[in-house]
Order: sequence, then structure tokens, then C-alpha cells
Amino acid sequence: MKIQPDRGGADAGKVRSVTVLGSTGSIGCNTLDLIGRSPDRFHVEALTGNGNVELLIEQAKAFRPGVAVIGDPTKYARLKEGLAGTGVETASGRAALLEAAARPAEFVMAGIVGIAGLEPTLVAARRGAIVGLANKECLVCAGDFLMKEVEHAGAELLPVDSEHNAIFQCFDFHAEKTVERLILTASGGPFRERSLGEMEKMTPAQAVAHPNWDMGAKISVDSATMMNKGLELIEAYYLFPVEEEQIEIIVHPQSVVHSLVGYVDGSVLAQLGPPDMRTPIAYALAWPSRMVTPSQRLDLAQIRNLTFEAPDTTRFPALRIARAALRAGGAAPTVLNAANEVAVRHFLDGAIGFLDIARVVEGVLDRSNQPAPSRIEDVSEIDVTARRLAGRLVDEISSRR
Ligand code: NAD
Ligand code: MG
Repeated sequence: MKIQPDRGGADAGKVRSVTVLGSTGSIGCNTLDLIGRSPDRFHVEALTGNGNVELLIEQAKAFRPGVAVIGDPTKYARLKEGLAGTGVETASGRAALLEAAARPAEFVMAGIVGIAGLEPTLVAARRGAIVGLANKECLVCAGDFLMKEVEHAGAELLPVDSEHNAIFQCFDFHAEKTVERLILTASGGPFRERSLGEMEKMTPAQAVAHPNWDMGAKISVDSATMMNKGLELIEAYYLFPVEEEQIEIIVHPQSVVHSLVGYVDGSVLAQLGPPDMRTPIAYALAWPSRMVTPSQRLDLAQIRNLTFEAPDTTRFPALRIARAALRAGGAAPTVLNAANEVAVRHFLDGAIGFLDIARVVEGVLDRSNQPAPSRIEDVSEIDVTARRLAGRLVDEISSRR
């Protein structure tokens, strides 16, 4: 099944309960920023973080959730001490994270990065929550599976990724056959104008310095390799009722046109706005209504020029690799995601170079040939195998450097 929004959503005037998974990250902080500005519309049910316990304590003091969960058990003592006397329950570890997702919040922001977010997102979907999906890796590694679970539970999956949120806003779900194509825009990242020779030497600090968006380290590196757009291609395929050939990618360095939907009559609808994740997050949080955000307003006369260019798959092979993985089907998208997570982590650690990321991902895909996962256990098995293989390729590359 593909996305099919049909729920009435929050009644006007009713307080919506919200759980933020990954509240200490970039998406999580933006979500809480919006909730803090509309305290009469939202109640926070649970907050979860992983490493940054001080920020989680600060957030829990400000938003007074039922529970605050820290993934890393070594940080639990500090969390408990920091929230003593506040009435906020505290917990830590994987099971506690899943319990937080299971609490009866009407809306769950899936803001954890990577496959670590899959299970908690599934728990929220299975109980029929409205899920704001920022965590694209969930759909890449378990797209068919997750969408079936969403349908089965009658949950609602709302894309928070800015491109998919734009498409969601422009897509006519009542006449899906009239949609001819989706056009995903890509900023091109910090290395858009760099040569391959220059890219070979790029450091983690240069890769995470995105020109338009302030995001977590993993997605920032994904933007630099343009694997982010590759993951988003797969994300769009699972979310919307279109085929792979109907999804195009165009580079648009200003990140103002967030994506477009083309119809059979030649009309093309787009959603625009300055690059600020609070707009797509607000769209999901308030859905099917809207809420005020402090985002800067679009001033086209001041911007003057919006430019577009075709993507370059020679300098950014991740685009070609991701499309090939989507076409290949089976376990390929799961493998792609796992290998990319490992490669990005080792690039950030300094073990491999920037261009090695795509080499590792392609190398792992070339050596893998498994059927599509149909159960969550299959997803983890494919993921673990691909990670092991990716680890070996990383070792080979780093020993040669
Ligand atoms: P981030 O690194 O800033 O935050 C990640 C969050 O996940 C943190 O709260 C962290 O504590 C938590 N986390 C990490 N590993 C965990 C684990 N093993 N167990 C439990 N929690 C864990 O990342 P981000 O930029 O906020 O991105 C989050 C997700 O949203 C990613 O999937 C990303 O692709 C997607 N996304 C982000 C943006 C953006 O503007 N930041 C835009 C579109 C999509
Ligand atoms: Mg995006």
C-alpha cells in the first residue's frame, strides 16, 4: 500500500498529545520549538534521546512529559538525578524506548536517525498513531513492510522530510492516476561545485557544513554524497502511488522549491518556502489543520533567481547506486541503507575518505543477493549481514590509506 491520508485528525481546540522520539536531535529540537510556541495545542507524552542527557533533562523540565527515556544506559543515573522531584518518570535502554513509543500519544514524531528508529516507529504505527516520519531510513530499509503495518493498523504516516512533505501537500490523492511524475529537488550539498579530485580529500568537518540546512551529522554527510537524495528517491517510491521511473531528481541549490508534482495535463504544482524544517514539521504536527510558525516568509523579489540543474551521477554516484538498488528490489534497499550507515560512520571517524562512502555501499550491494524482507526479523538479518560486509570493506580501504 502507499500513503492514503484519511483521518479526521485533531479537532480544532482539542489538545494533541505528542511523543518525540529523538527529541535531542535537530528534528526533535525543531519539533519542541514549535510545541513550545503553541502550548495550548499540545501536550508532551514522552521524550527520548540517546547521548545528550543534559539536553534531555532540560527539555523534560520545560515540557514535563510523562516519561523521559535515554537510550544509553550509562547516562541513566544522571537523567534520574537531573529530573528528581519533577514528577517526570525516567527510564533507559531499548525496551524503555519501545515503551515510550507505545504510550498513548496521538502523534509520534519519528526523529531518530538510522535503522535504530525502525522498531520504535513500528510500535507507534501498530497502535494506530499519527506518525510524523522524519526517519527516512525506516522506509528505505523496510518500506513494503512498514507501509503494510501502517495500513493494517489504520495508522497515518505523514512525511516530514521537506521534499516528501512538499509532494504530500501537492499530491491529489483523489485522482492519483492523473499524477504523471514527482520531481524531487536536491540542494546538491556543500560539494556541488567540487571536482572529483577535490572531493577525494574532503574532511568530515567540510562534509557536515551544509549550505542551507542545519541538520544532524549523518544526514549532512548524506547530503554531501547526495545519498540523501538516493534515500529520498526510495522513500518517495514507498510513500506515493508512483513507479520508480516516475520519480525525477533535479538540483536546486537555493532549497526554496521543496519538490513538485507533475500532472497529465502538463500542470506542475510545487510547495515553496525558505529552508526551515519547522514548516514541514508544523504541517505534520497540526495535520489536517495548519499552525502558525515563526519561519521566515518567502520573499521572491529579494531572492530574484531560482536555479535548477541536472544532477551529475559521475561526481555523485550515490544517486545512480540508490536508483539501481530500488530497481533491483529484493533486499537491495535494506543493504544500501545498512552499508551507507556504516560507511558514513567510518568517514566521520576518519577511517575512510569521502569518495569511499559510495565505494563501500556499491561494494556491499555487489556482494549481496537476498530476497525482500517480509518480517522484521528478515530486515535485521539483512541489515546485520550487510553491516558486517561493509565493516570488512572499510577495514580493507582503511588499511590501504
Ligand atoms: P540528529 O543526529 O540531530 O538526531 C538524531 C536523534 O536520534 C537524537 O535525538 C539521538 O539521540 C537519537 N538517536 C540516535 N541514535 C539512537 C539510537 N541508537 N537509539 C535511540 N535514539 C537514537 O539527526 P536529525 O538531523 O534530527 O535527523 C533525524 C532523522 O530525520 C534522520 O533520519 C534524518 O534523515 C531525518 N531528517 C532530518 C532532517 C533535518 O533537517 N535534520 C530533514 C529531513 C529528514
Ligand atoms: Mg529531505
